[in-house]
Amino acid sequence: MKPTIDWQIASIRDIRPETATVKSFTLTLPAWTRHRPGQHYDLRLTAEDGYQAQRSYSIASEPERQGEVDITVERINDGEVSTYLHDVAVPGDRIEVRGPIGGYFVWEATMNNPLLLIAGGSGIVPLMSMIRHRSAVGGKNPTSLLYSSRAFEDIIYYKELELLRSANNGLQVFHTLTRSQPADWKGYARRIDEDMLKEVARPLGKSVEVYICGPTLLVESAANALVKIGIKPDQIRAERFGPTGG
Ligand SMILES: Cc1cc2nc3c(=O)[nH]c(=O)nc-3n(C[C@H](O)[C@H](O)[C@H](O)COP(=O)(O)OP(=O)(O)OC[C@H]3O[C@@H](n4cnc5c(N)ncnc54)[C@H](O)[C@@H]3O)c2cc1C
Repeated sequence: MKPTIDWQIASIRDIRPETATVKSFTLTLPAWTRHRPGQHYDLRLTAEDGYQAQRSYSIASEPERQGEVDITVERINDGEVSTYLHDVAVPGDRIEVRGPIGGYFVWEATMNNPLLLIAGGSGIVPLMSMIRHRSAVGGKNPTSLLYSSRAFEDIIYYKELELLRSANNGLQVFHTLTRSQPADWKGYARRIDEDMLKEVARPLGKSVEVYICGPTLLVESAANALVKIGIKPDQIRAERFGPTGG
């Protein structure tokens, strides 16, 4: 039987906007434990009448930062928990969390294979923890991120990704914008497909490890296309952020 992870009361230390619909929250944790990049926390809200709502949020920060974690939350219209976090929560608020949780969708720099990270929208969050961790420990394994967003303004962590890419430590970043593109856009401008995956994955070689995170449809179509271009299913790990999480 898995050990139960206790709930604890985190404090919101900082809230900052990432895009028009996405904010990051720094949570200070009294019982902080080192996470593995890719893991998440469960967050629980309790109303005065006792009604509770619980959702999972991936850890965005690197495990090298002690005592606190960042989460990054997209505001879902009509959503219970994401709208509370966006519209009501303020720094200093206390919030119930438990974690870190998850043992399958994780990557650590000791796993030294070439890495292909594929994200759609807020699916970038657990992959960002991996990228930040790799940078914090001076990882040099060839790593490519293929990140699908609707429009340029929707790209989360754009500036930080540019900085990390320009450090020339083997990280490549490919963006695709599916709905609209700036006039001088040089990246991809369509949904992730087989040809795009060939271009991005092939230079990483046969021993590549793949992590895909995002809406269910993106995750499934990317995983299927990867298998068609010769990547084995056991090299692919996927996490779906959907209404059910399943
Ligand atoms: C392991 C895991 C990690 C996650 N990590 C993150 C993260 O890092 N950042 C993040 O923003 N979210 C993340 N999610 C999604 C998150 O748990 C919630 O599902 C999301 O915030 C919506 O919750 P809500 O209470 O606001 O909406 P709800 O009240 O649950 O739903 C409101 C309406 O929106 C629809 N809906 C719910 N979720 C989504 C969605 N993701 N996209 C589109 N429509 C939706 C529902 O079907 C419903 O109609 C993660 C999910 C899982 C399973």
